[in-house]
Amino acid sequence: MQQTLMVITIELMIKERSDSLFEIALSLFPGGVNSPVRAFQSVYGNPVFVERGDGSYIWDEDGNKYIDFCCSWGPLILGHNNNSVKSAVSKAIEKGLSFGTPTMKENELASLVLKNNNYLDKIRFVNSGTEAVMSAIRLARGFTKRDKIIKFDGCYHGHADSLLVKAGSGLATFGVSSSEGVPESTANETIVLDLNDKETVNEAFTNYPNEIACIIIEPIPANNGLLIQDQEYLIFLREACNNNGALLIFDEVISGFRLGFGGAAAFYDIQPDLITYGKIIGGGLPVGAYGGKEEIMAHISPDGNVYQAGTLSGNPIAMAAGIAQITACLVKGFYSTLDSRAAHFVEIIRAHIKEKGYKMSVYSIGSIFWIAFSDKKRIQKASDIDADSMELFKIMHSYLLEHGVYLGPSGYEVGFISQAHDQKTLEIAAKTICNSLDHIFDEKQKNQERI
Ligand SMILES: *Cc1c(COP(=O)(O)O)cnc(C)c1O
Repeated sequence: MQQTLMVITIELMIKERSDSLFEIALSLFPGGVNSPVRAFQSVYGNPVFVERGDGSYIWDEDGNKYIDFCCSWGPLILGHNNNSVKSAVSKAIEKGLSFGTPTMKENELASLVLKNNNYLDKIRFVNSGTEAVMSAIRLARGFTKRDKIIKFDGCYHGHADSLLVKAGSGLATFGVSSSEGVPESTANETIVLDLNDKETVNEAFTNYPNEIACIIIEPIPANNGLLIQDQEYLIFLREACNNNGALLIFDEVISGFRLGFGGAAAFYDIQPDLITYGKIIGGGLPVGAYGGKEEIMAHISPDGNVYQAGTLSGNPIAMAAGIAQITACLVKGFYSTLDSRAAHFVEIIRAHIKEKGYKMSVYSIGSIFWIAFSDKKRIQKASDIDADSMELFKIMHSYLLEHGVYLGPSGYEVGFISQAHDQKTLEIAAKTICNSLDHIFDEKQKNQERI
């Protein structure tokens, strides 16, 4: 008995500093955090306080080292503390932090994006993904002179009021707010539909003729599992919008610059009316953006009457980070190398799952992956995710944390692979993940034998 206890103590990572910092944080912030999913409420233990990051690794305040697959929730496609981003930021800082005037850096980042993306004519920089989406929705409403919008269950678009909405119950086709503080009158203007279901889209346009301003979708839904849609469905949405005078907004805050430089629009070759960006475009600093066709963007102030502004929008330090990162993404072979390493990584885990016959899957596209305790071939709707399976994710998450692999603290979150994750690191991580699965299913087996 004594001996087993000792082994456990030795194996357990020490997280004293993280724990005591979290104690303090609890007295400072609601739930101890500045963004809810950081709070570890969907997994075991307390949040890890990160002290620094380098390449594919992060170190917590207790000195524990982890291979990181959260990558700041997607922005760090070059890994942590990338040299070119870091030096661009240092250089920019020498010249002052913010001016509230136009700067050359805004032109530079915008040109890099627009010249290399055929799906946009004009862009506007904001400070977050939420702001980008909020502004794009306002623009769609201003442009079409309509109020209603369609969103999909399982897509996340940030925390603007119109989008904190879930499907109403029963026959109601309008949405109800999913957060207190969002007026029902606002929520009622949002129609929430299932993904991968054409019929309900047609019904909505029939029920609300000339009232729907836009459809907004994550073309690669990656905020509630990874719910990869068929190209044919996305084309259908494009046509449904065309036929009904509504705009199609691709929320590419995750997929933009992740699934190739042109994001999902280029991947599927679909021309949305508006595209929103965030995460990668800022290289780890707070940048969001929205853009689209010239004639639609002309409605934004000061050219047009749709108001949208920002004191720190296009901030020179953030632009410098964005320029360095986006420039790196434009290097020939960047995405093919990244994606093939990612494919090798997921194949190791998939092969193990197959060999052992575990009931689970690794869904992936490009450098995004999602480990799910489901053996469905495809999951394309939020309601197809088995909520009970999240119990197994919790065990996996804590095992991986103990063994130096950091995944976002929820089974609904995807993992991100960066350029800094080299093949060797990925193989080590994949092996650790396979071990975690053996641990889970062995335990399950033992428990069943006991019963
Ligand atoms: C992260 C995200 C947002 C919100 O961006 P923030 O920068 O967190 O405000 C919006 N849409 C999608 C698809 C996202 O992944």
